[in-house]
Amino acid sequence: MYRETIHHATGVTEGTASEGHATMLLTTALRREYAVEFTPAGGALITWTRRLFGTGEGSVVRAERSISLEPEMPVGNLSATTRLDLDLIAGDRHARYAEKDGRRVVTGLTWQIPAFTTARLRARGLVVEDGDRLRLSLTARLGLLAQLHRTRTTEPKGWYRPSAGDPYGAAGLNRPGGRAGMLRDGTSAATCACGALSAWGGDRDEARRLTLAHRREVAAAFIAEHLARVEAPGA
Ligand SMILES: [Zn+2]
Repeated sequence: MYRETIHHATGVTEGTASEGHATMLLTTALRREYAVEFTPAGGALITWTRRLFGTGEGSVVRAERSISLEPEMPVGNLSATTRLDLDLIAGDRHARYAEKDGRRVVTGLTWQIPAFTTARLRARGLVVEDGDRLRLSLTARLGLLAQLHRTRTTEPKGWYRPSAGDPYGAAGLNRPGGRAGMLRDGTSAATCACGALSAWGGDRDEARRLTLAHRREVAAAFIAEHLARVEAPGA
């Protein structure tokens, strides 16, 4: 279950959303080309801009809207071992609960997860029963993805004194505030833990926009591939 917070025209509405409802919100967001970002806790933030026509001639007012989905049970940090267990379950449609020596375990076609670990996966809300099979919860899937795509930006170098012999060493001789002879480097690196993003922003805001764009691309690709129903042509 998720806590759902909607920022709309007349204020803020709060409620709860089931996994099914959250999935519907995410697929609708994709169809309408809204921006979606997943959180490491297993939630999501959907944002879009409404263009409202104002009263003045040709005036257009932009209004920011958002829906935030926060898991009632955040997935927490997923260790490498936990990620392996979750991959096993996600990749095997025969995954289900079974009983071994009177204790509950998860079994697949060729593997088994010990009772203690099974209990922890279950208590953390990472797995859910779907009929007689076991699958990952939506929070586990979103959290896994967000944790694989942790992005960062670097602090710009700022003002620095060029080393002797630097051909640009004479730059900025007239700068006030004791900065004579100094250069400024405002560039900031934007990287992602997945290794796919490695870019430079002219300043830190630009670098942050690059990381945000990357996280949104990852979320959109996930929704398109794993959540959106394939609609029949002409339907
Ligand atoms: Zn990434």
